[in-house]
Amino acid sequence: MKFSKKLQYLNENALFQRGKKPIALPCRLWLIKSNFAGFLAKNLNMRKGLMRLVIAMMKHETNTFSPIVTDWQRYKDWGAYLGENARNAYENTGMPMAAYIDLAKEIGAEIITPVAAEAMPSGPVTKEAYAIMSDAICAAIAQGCDAVLLDLHGAMVAEETDDGEGTLLERIRGIAPDLPIAVTCDFHCNLTQKMIDNCTALIGYKTYPHMDMYEVGTQIGKVLLDSLAGKCRPVMAWKQIPLLSQTLCQGTEDQPMKSLIDACLEKEKDSKILAATTFGGFALADIKDAGTSVVIVADGDAELAEKTSQDIAWEAWEAREDFIYQQKPLNEAIQQAKAQTEFPVLLLDHEDNCGSGGTQDVMMVIKEVIEQELEDVAVAAVYDPAAVQEMIKVGIGNEVTLALGGKFEMPSISLKGKPLTLTGTVRTLTDGRWTVHGPMYTGVEVSMGPTAVLDTGKLQIVVVSCHHEPWDTGVFTSVGIQPEHKKYLLLKTRIHYRAGFAPIGKATIHCEGEGVTTSNNALLDYKKVRKPIYPLDKRVNF
Ligand SMILES: [Zn+2]
Repeated sequence: MKFSKKLQYLNENALFQRGKKPIALPCRLWLIKSNFAGFLAKNLNMRKGLMRLVIAMMKHETNTFSPIVTDWQRYKDWGAYLGENARNAYENTGMPMAAYIDLAKEIGAEIITPVAAEAMPSGPVTKEAYAIMSDAICAAIAQGCDAVLLDLHGAMVAEETDDGEGTLLERIRGIAPDLPIAVTCDFHCNLTQKMIDNCTALIGYKTYPHMDMYEVGTQIGKVLLDSLAGKCRPVMAWKQIPLLSQTLCQGTEDQPMKSLIDACLEKEKDSKILAATTFGGFALADIKDAGTSVVIVADGDAELAEKTSQDIAWEAWEAREDFIYQQKPLNEAIQQAKAQTEFPVLLLDHEDNCGSGGTQDVMMVIKEVIEQELEDVAVAAVYDPAAVQEMIKVGIGNEVTLALGGKFEMPSISLKGKPLTLTGTVRTLTDGRWTVHGPMYTGVEVSMGPTAVLDTGKLQIVVVSCHHEPWDTGVFTSVGIQPEHKKYLLLKTRIHYRAGFAPIGKATIHCEGEGVTTSNNALLDYKKVRKPIYPLDKRVNF
């Protein structure tokens, strides 16, 4: 049955209609632990006949090797909203949270949005920030609701837990043991048993770069609403593969990831499979559960879920060698760039990608580009708030000499900060705010903080005060640079650049610099990840 028909069915059955006498719904049978205010709210709600849905976003991809602190201010830098502000910030965007809100509006549900918060990837989330988000969600649930729809990442490490999402879901189930819970996770989710045990239905993105966030939210939201109406009975099975697949080998348009995604789509053609997901996982997290996994949501058929998850997991394991990135010397990469004849050429400084927890201030690749005398290069972006302040003081059109970048020490990989002294003209100064019109994070307002462009003649370098991975051309156009007219675009990114830059790039060259988003496992001292695991261990059975 199509979802519109299901809604019609639901309406005909008066389950969700405003103003109608409520029917005793099975979904309302769960009990809240002795919370009188919640009890009153719930019963008042029931008298109105409204379904009450808690919808929230709590996101972070934690790189445990990153030196960047993830406190509440860092959340606010990217986007942290409470109460109605959470709804206002994300409604009508391309995010799962927006999909949930749209579904809730369709059925006339009461919508509670306690929090919507995301920080750029970085080190473990502080106790305070984790408490602000998880307490807000749990408090809303304790007030009474019929279901929860969560927009999570699935690789959050907080100071007090290596499993930020599993711990949250377990706490929710402690408050409301039978509460239906739908969860969307990022493609880079490190899935855990605790997450599976404490939700009803879980799904991940099928695209990297992530361009199906809204659709995935809609898919799992519908599953949950159908289950509330007694139209389906989600059961989950999952498989954890002993594989730390590397981000650069996870593009969903590339093999072997494409085949795994296609396998999930094929399985979903079976009406008994409600959702099928292969997670690439996030290898830069030294936690027990890092790595690739598969999760299947089937309709009442646990055996089918189990078999399907096993089939896809086996396919992923068979392809393990192709998930390991092969390095190439930096000087050769820049020589290759010089030999190109069609432009713009995209140069990926992928070992310093703030979208995976990088400091975004490593100057190694920029230095090599200067030494090999590439011309007409635009760089996005270098994180250096102090340099931006210096450029603001100097003013537009004036010359400045700066020790740019290299402010972070990275003890986890024994890397010292190495600033690069550059002289140039301050070309542009902005507040760093712009709205995404491209296919990823569509409609979301980006804040790069106070932003300046340093023009050295051969290079135009965007310098930002808040971390921002360049996945959309807005990173350049917002500061007056037309990327399609440049010869080279040097981007501190790994795969997400494809969302905005693949349509204009004539060639893409990987540049091995330095940083905590390295693909060189020899630099990373894993202590907590489960063993044996490929490729850290060669003898691994699955
Ligand atoms: Zn991701």
